[in-house]
Amino acid sequence: MPTVLTHPAVPLGLALALGRRVVSPRLLAVGICVSVLPDLDVLAFRLGIPYATQWGHRGFSHSVLFAVLVALLGMLLARHLRVPPQRVFWFLLLATASHGILDAFTNGGLGVAFFWPWSQARFFAPVHPVEVAPISLTRLLTGKGASVLWSELLWVWLPCLTPAIIVGTARYWQRARRR
Ligand SMILES: [Zn+2]
Repeated sequence: MPTVLTHPAVPLGLALALGRRVVSPRLLAVGICVSVLPDLDVLAFRLGIPYATQWGHRGFSHSVLFAVLVALLGMLLARHLRVPPQRVFWFLLLATASHGILDAFTNGGLGVAFFWPWSQARFFAPVHPVEVAPISLTRLLTGKGASVLWSELLWVWLPCLTPAIIVGTARYWQRARRR
């Protein structure tokens, strides 16, 4: 997995690109939470559940179905989030599903069970430029941690935030010119 610090890059990038009129700060906050939610499955290690099973790490919680269910549940909060339910659905779907997609680009661990429960097969992307993060946060504070964070900066934060900042700035200028 990329670190817990990096999965929020996708909802943050989307929110920056679309603007706060489309993605309310509350929706963004929920989007950040659901982008890291699938990794709660690391509890499986403590419960003695093997990594490679459907209930193990990168299993059911990293599937497309899980992302759809999270997005559907999120729609119940639409009024509280001050955005239409369909927008909540699509934003939370992208934020949650992006987790497994980013994991598939890492160079370690097992692949991602995208198609659970129909298939238990684990998948990786064709390329793996993102250094896999250690599951323990204390190990992240070692020399290896610095190279993990550097690769996440290069391969996740930069591609997510650069277009978002360009689009966000263009939108801001356009609105300022209309005033
Ligand atoms: Zn993960």
